[in-house]
Amino acid sequence: MAKKAARKNAPAAAAKKVAVKKPAAAKARAGKAGKHVYFFGNGKADGDRTMKDLLGGKGSGLAEMTNAGLPVPPGFTISTPVCTIYYKEKAHIPAAIDTEIADHLKKLEKAAGAQLGSTDNPLLVSVRSGAKFSMPGMMDTILNLGLNDKSVEGLKSRTQNGRFAFDSYRRFMQMFGSVVLEIPKSAFEHEFDGVKASRGAKLDTDLDEAALREVVERYKGVVKKKSGKPFPQDPMEQLKAARDAVFRSWMNPRAQEYRRIYDIPDHIGTAVNVQMMVFGNTGDRSGTGVGFTRNPATGKKEFYGEFLINAQGEDVVAGVRTPQPITQLEQVMPAAYKQLRDITTRLEKHYKDIQDFEFTIQDEKLYMLQTRSGKRTGHAAVVIATDLAAEKLVTPKEAVLLVDPESLNQLLAPGFDQNEWKKIPVATKGLPASPGAASGQVVFSADHAVEWTQQGKQVILVRRETVPDDIHGMFVSQGILTATGGMTSHAAVVGRQMGKPSIVGAGGIEVDEAGKQFHVSGKTVREGDWISFDGLSGEVKLARVASKPSEILQVINGQLKAADSDIYQRFDRILGWADKFRRMGIRANADLPDQAEIAYAFGARGIGLCRTEHMFFGEGRIPVVQKMILADNEADRRKALDELLPLQREDFYGVFKAMKGSPVTIRTIDPPLHEFLPKREELMVEIVRLEMAGNKKKELDEKRTLLARVEQLHEFNPMLGHRGVRLGITYPEITEMQTRAIIEAACRLNKEGLKIVPEIMIPLVGHVKELKDQKAVVDRVAAETMQAQGIKIKYLVGTMIEVPRGAMTADQVAEEAQFFSFGTNDLTQLTFGFSRDDVGKFLRIYQEKKILDKDPFATIDTEGVGAVVRTGVNLGRKARPDLKIGVCGEHGGDPASIHFFEKVGLDYVSASPYRIPVARLAAAQAALAVKVGD
Ligand code: ADP
Ligand code: MG
Ligand code: MG
Repeated sequence: MAKKAARKNAPAAAAKKVAVKKPAAAKARAGKAGKHVYFFGNGKADGDRTMKDLLGGKGSGLAEMTNAGLPVPPGFTISTPVCTIYYKEKAHIPAAIDTEIADHLKKLEKAAGAQLGSTDNPLLVSVRSGAKFSMPGMMDTILNLGLNDKSVEGLKSRTQNGRFAFDSYRRFMQMFGSVVLEIPKSAFEHEFDGVKASRGAKLDTDLDEAALREVVERYKGVVKKKSGKPFPQDPMEQLKAARDAVFRSWMNPRAQEYRRIYDIPDHIGTAVNVQMMVFGNTGDRSGTGVGFTRNPATGKKEFYGEFLINAQGEDVVAGVRTPQPITQLEQVMPAAYKQLRDITTRLEKHYKDIQDFEFTIQDEKLYMLQTRSGKRTGHAAVVIATDLAAEKLVTPKEAVLLVDPESLNQLLAPGFDQNEWKKIPVATKGLPASPGAASGQVVFSADHAVEWTQQGKQVILVRRETVPDDIHGMFVSQGILTATGGMTSHAAVVGRQMGKPSIVGAGGIEVDEAGKQFHVSGKTVREGDWISFDGLSGEVKLARVASKPSEILQVINGQLKAADSDIYQRFDRILGWADKFRRMGIRANADLPDQAEIAYAFGARGIGLCRTEHMFFGEGRIPVVQKMILADNEADRRKALDELLPLQREDFYGVFKAMKGSPVTIRTIDPPLHEFLPKREELMVEIVRLEMAGNKKKELDEKRTLLARVEQLHEFNPMLGHRGVRLGITYPEITEMQTRAIIEAACRLNKEGLKIVPEIMIPLVGHVKELKDQKAVVDRVAAETMQAQGIKIKYLVGTMIEVPRGAMTADQVAEEAQFFSFGTNDLTQLTFGFSRDDVGKFLRIYQEKKILDKDPFATIDTEGVGAVVRTGVNLGRKARPDLKIGVCGEHGGDPASIHFFEKVGLDYVSASPYRIPVARLAAAQAALAVKVGD
């Protein structure tokens, strides 16, 4: 669980959450020293559900299902540490582990009653990847291993089914050829299509034994030609090579990219599962399928999935044939269907979460091949968690753990304005794989999607079908549209997980990827054209369509009644539960009254950061601010400040009022002053223009004065320059004005009956004497103001801790400060010495070279910056035990960082208004997962 909350964006890895409940058991079962291989079969397994770290998700699921007496083909799991050993030993597996594997193979042969490579009774196995976190399609799996020229004949005579035997062999050769020997798939497909064409076959299933024998012969030629060696006939050699290839696939580029996006560490490695094959391709009484116990797109309680008769392995997801909806299995094989429903219902109860399962039916006998918590959209996550709680399958506490905080953002994403949407004709319809409204310019490759978005465009990725290599392009697109594939195809699964609107299997579109265009209902759509689609209905339209706020935002904005929105009520229920379990308070970073109102409606109870300078950018204010800056004497500066005073006071009044008495922290002016002035280059251009015009003397003089002041204010390193507390120290009249505005607004509200305790925060303090200087100004002006107002109110003076020196001397600073707020943006900048504005130039390369895993400006660097925070907290509380401490950097809305702040014992986190729901949920999950001081 600790890991869970520490990861961003990885929805629905619910078995991790399940593991929370049994930490003791998990530890006790963390594997025996020296044991690397774990058996499952005959109703008993060495492993169980608590051992995902060791066995991977797939391995632990197979073990758990075996222990529960479910029909699982026997096998064994080579544990994840072996993957680490494989890399450490430079692609070599030590002899002792080889022996352990061989022993387990013997055990498997006994359980299966067949032998690997036997000519009359051959055992066939699958070699399956499976890491702790599911990474759909990113790594490799090989089926039907153990077949060779002799055993294939054994399989034929044993089953009396030559077509089946050779179909299995050709599948094995193709998978082994591409995965292990790294021969391009297309080389095999070319031969396969050749044989199909020569026999006039439309479907794979139309090929008979003779045709498949020919395919096998042709494949042998491909292997010989491309790898320089004949196809390996020794099953042990096949097994070792396949095992190593699965380990290698852990480090393939797409798997690495996937882990980067989902913050999965590289070092955990994958397990390898070796499992007896069962066959869905023996004929019409066999089949294979995948499914979910609930709808993973909407969360609705309905059996969901697809199957194919006479098919094997990935056929359902690969999109070679169009699968049938799983509910139709009831007509085809009623007994197997009923058993499948019973088993999956049991699994859902057992794991207390929606299950995503794989099964195969061999001659009407059902086998379970995988179960895991289903990936789901944010919408579905909330529906499922609230439904499971209503069904009493989970407690509210467990329900809170079932929703990935980050996925709540999907619920806030806009939808189309239905009036606009209705006006445009439907161009085509596809399968609604992931809900949401998408509008963008069409691109046909993942790389283009990335390029175009970098140029600020919004794109929709259109593909015949997506492949795992497209992941980077899918990530940046507004939506994904594919022509083929079913509801469980790659695009659908990944789209749902990312919360991207997705439509798959839109058979009406004909994609010409090379020609960068697609055809639909007689029209041609080219790269760059606008299209829109609705991922809930599956409708695609050829136009740009304006979108409108999500239902939840409509309720927040007061456009819709909560009672009329089912999803809002569920959202509110989950967050209400979260509030019960969290320790930290939730505040918002909001600068203006309207932002504060939204934040309050989202559940923020307080403002952690009100940046007063943002008020300076309000309409008509900049000229006054500029007057203040341009003043070259105190008197003029005070005059300009007098003009600003009422404006600031009104804003503060509004912000206080919106928070209804919850604490509000207001920061005195922070950025370098030149940010309020025009750019030097622009001024120079204007001056030249005015000089040429000739007759604009007065304007020209003004601009020249401005330029002179801009040049005077020029700094080499403005972020390290004249800003923050340094401004207040050099121009105390600014602090005076701001204090007066704050105290006057607060006095007025207190008189009106709303008790307000303003918190005045001095930024960028590195030395206690800086704070002391400013505190004296604040206290003096506050006293004067209160006297003038004829009322005494309570207020606090504190500081932002964002300069490392401030944290390292926090005990001294706390003598003066009544509260701390960690400004982790600047603190990260100053601790790393990375300029926030320039880090983009090298961060990506740092991540590629694995110097940094994550962007430290997005997720707090717990080891370095985190250590500074921890020191600040400890020293500060030593000097002042009741010191109130929060965080107001971007990290305050980041789940992994929130987890860290829980551990160091902050009193609250402050996040931007739209991230308040994420922060509430993440804070609850953190409180349930770790303890202060861990
Ligand atoms: P992925 O993680 O990409 O889903 P899997 O290891 O689950 O890869 O296997 C891919 C496909 O092969 C799945 O459809 C699975 O059901 C099927 N499969 C794996 N092992 C076996 C087996 N022993 N017998 C029959 N089908 C199998
Ligand atoms: Mg699978
Ligand atoms: Mg700062």
